[in-house]
Amino acid sequence: MSPRKRASPSAEPLVPPERRASVRAGLLAWYDQQKRDLPWRRTRDPYAIWLSEVMLQQTQVATVIPYWERFLQRFPTVEALADAPLADVLAGWRGLGYYSRARNLHRAAQEIVTRFGGRLPPTAAELLTLPGFGRYTAGAVASIAFGEDAPLVDGNVARVLSRLFEVEGVPGDRVREARLWALATELVPGERPGDFNQALMEHGATVCRPDNPLCLLCPVREACLAFRHGRVGELPPAKVRAAPKQMTLAVAVWAHEGRLLLARRADKGLFGGLWELPAAEVDADPPESECAARLSQALGTPVRVGAALGVVRRQLTHRTLTLRLLRVTGATRPTQAPAFQDTRWCTPEEAAALGMSTAMHKALQAALDAGALVLPPSSVD
Ligand code: SF4
Repeated sequence: MSPRKRASPSAEPLVPPERRASVRAGLLAWYDQQKRDLPWRRTRDPYAIWLSEVMLQQTQVATVIPYWERFLQRFPTVEALADAPLADVLAGWRGLGYYSRARNLHRAAQEIVTRFGGRLPPTAAELLTLPGFGRYTAGAVASIAFGEDAPLVDGNVARVLSRLFEVEGVPGDRVREARLWALATELVPGERPGDFNQALMEHGATVCRPDNPLCLLCPVREACLAFRHGRVGELPPAKVRAAPKQMTLAVAVWAHEGRLLLARRADKGLFGGLWELPAAEVDADPPESECAARLSQALGTPVRVGAALGVVRRQLTHRTLTLRLLRVTGATRPTQAPAFQDTRWCTPEEAAALGMSTAMHKALQAALDAGALVLPPSSVD
């Protein structure tokens, strides 16, 4: 595959040429010797590389490896992914979280088939027109899979560049972000842009770590302004994180003849497109009447709330979820529920095979353990 190049964007370099050359050479030589042997580094398949980049957003390398391998076995090509039902794609994603990544991956695969004949376009500019491709993913795929001089900045790269070039400002600050992207843009052109981008990320992940960076082992220490000025510990400043939002869901455990009612959420929003025991958001400590009202509204039929079957808690990055499992009955079983795009009565085995979030899987298991399918004698339905 022949590398694609583009012209240097800046007449006034931010980094003097000698320093730029020494940073590039130092990082590339270090990467050649020290890079981790990761499965997506053994392939030239742009689709497989793209998939790894999407999975690695928000997820640790060790977690991603088995998911990446299984997903590629199940959907080995862009066409196979594009042809698959969304529910199957979400089922393959189960446990990785951030399901919007899987929905965008699926939509992008369909666009790649219709607009680009099933092949990923080779430039960051074209990739940016596809669902789910931001500046980072476009730069990663274009540089790693196609050899384009496309920059990228992720959390690791931002930290390395902040220290190397003494970039001020807290993460998220627009001026800081612009400077980091300008530096990345200036550094990437030259030999092996994809490897250079990976070297930057690898260096941030393993040497220039957030805490206790291994400066004495650093291949670019001589060029590092933060090291020279004794500022490694203060760059970059820690980001002030918002406290996770509390969210409580009333979860309907509706059993009928050995089956449970499952519902599929609308495609947008938290857990969009995934199956679940039908749930509705309620206040933190809701009375039974509120749970009944919210679930009746969501299911489009009046329900009675019976015994509590347990509570499942799950910590997401931005939310603390509390799922209150409630036995539910009603005179009319729902066929079309306003809050959901589909409903289905499933055996536990059928339910377990649906695309569900990890939180809802735990809820399903907890409900079954609490005897969800063992109906009390007074049960109406
Ligand atoms: Fe990071 Fe230390 Fe190397 Fe500077 S010298 S780039 S702070 S590891």
